[in-house]
Amino acid sequence: MLDQIRETQAAKALDEWKFESDPLEKMEVRGNSKKNTFYSKEEHLRKNKDGTWRNHQGDDLKAPIGTPILAVMDGKIVKVYTSESYGECVILEFTAPDGKPYYGFYAHLSDTSVATTFKSNGTLIKAGTEIGKTGMTGSTAQNLPLSDAHLHFELRTSLYPGSGMADRINPFPHYNANMEVR
Ligand SMILES: [Zn+2]
Repeated sequence: MLDQIRETQAAKALDEWKFESDPLEKMEVRGNSKKNTFYSKEEHLRKNKDGTWRNHQGDDLKAPIGTPILAVMDGKIVKVYTSESYGECVILEFTAPDGKPYYGFYAHLSDTSVATTFKSNGTLIKAGTEIGKTGMTGSTAQNLPLSDAHLHFELRTSLYPGSGMADRINPFPHYNANMEVR
């Protein structure tokens, strides 16, 4: 019974949770388009060349190359690496109001040197601290016009998420900024 109450309270806290800082100072979805936000397979908003459907696992937040990316919560950098599709990536680990660990995934970056230093020093980072700069690295971002430069941001429940939408949740309700998408 008590456990049930605690679980309900944790779920409610998570529902109402806002990041202590948004990932960018100026928040705007790329093209103000819903297809550049997190969505489920069922919505079928992106199609591959071979006709199969593809998920978008996070939000594309418009940002000119070199825009500072910010820690969304107090936490620490647990991963800095390069991926073929996502380019230069940084992962911030933090605790959400439900008491569980969550991971902010920042991709297509141009500069991860600060994050690398934070990671090797084991620095505890305050929300709002700059942890890198946006860019257009990775195969998906390189093919876009400069005007479509963006931060790809995901909210994950595991450091080693599965494919598709597994271990990812919608970051959109947790931003402080109000953004309109069509
Ligand atoms: Zn994206």
